Amino acid sequence: MVKENLMQVRENIKRACEKSGRDPENITLIAVSKTKPVPMLDEAYQAGSRDFGENKVQEIMDKHPALPEDIRWHMIGHLQRNKVKYIVDKVCLIHSVDSLRLAEEISIQSEKKQVETDILIEVNIAQEESKFGVSEKEVLPLIQQIAKLPHIHIKGLMTIAPFVNDPEENRKYFHQIRELSVDIMKKNIDNVSMSVLSMGMTGDYMVAVEEGATMVRVGTGIFGERNYTS
Ligand SMILES: *Cc1c(COP(=O)(O)O)cnc(C)c1O
Repeated sequence: MVKENLMQVRENIKRACEKSGRDPENITLIAVSKTKPVPMLDEAYQAGSRDFGENKVQEIMDKHPALPEDIRWHMIGHLQRNKVKYIVDKVCLIHSVDSLRLAEEISIQSEKKQVETDILIEVNIAQEESKFGVSEKEVLPLIQQIAKLPHIHIKGLMTIAPFVNDPEENRKYFHQIRELSVDIMKKNIDNVSMSVLSMGMTGDYMVAVEEGATMVRVGTGIFGERNYTS
């Protein structure tokens, strides 16, 4: 089932690319495997997935040693400072940086582990109270501060759009964050690239691709519904 789902999602991405004149090569599909057991991740791996997204430090630590080494792990969930030390040497990208203090801790722990850590700034583009991430106007000042830290590199922006029934409702937010990313790119800040735009989930990834996403994070669409009670 995972394999068929993956093929469907890839096909949908291709179609969204055709519609918007983009190259599917420029879009990374992150299989969001949170709560799912290792054999399901392995199925996705066998079907070609190499990018996996998790939102809990503990799950990355459990799954990382159980799966092939060429997997690129993405930390997509809220990250507590005291847990940074467990994952800086295991993840390829932290999508959820939303404060200078967290970035400082990532910098310190990366130094200790002798790694360079790539991050995205999480933007709460729809200004939802329930969400993490900084507001649109806080993004640039935060980036200017983080850019000065050693061992940490800003690669772009991430957003979690509101939960909606019609994905078209989120188009304006995807468009808005893409414009923000272009504005920041034009400032040519040292140690800052805006090459990554992580946006779009199961309900809205096609719209996100049409609006410029370079990474989409799809969980349910690949692995099925999550069961949080088990
Ligand atoms: C769970 C999660 C996803 C995937 O959500 P689906 O709707 O299952 O595709 C994407 N991004 C983040 C940050 C998540 O926590």
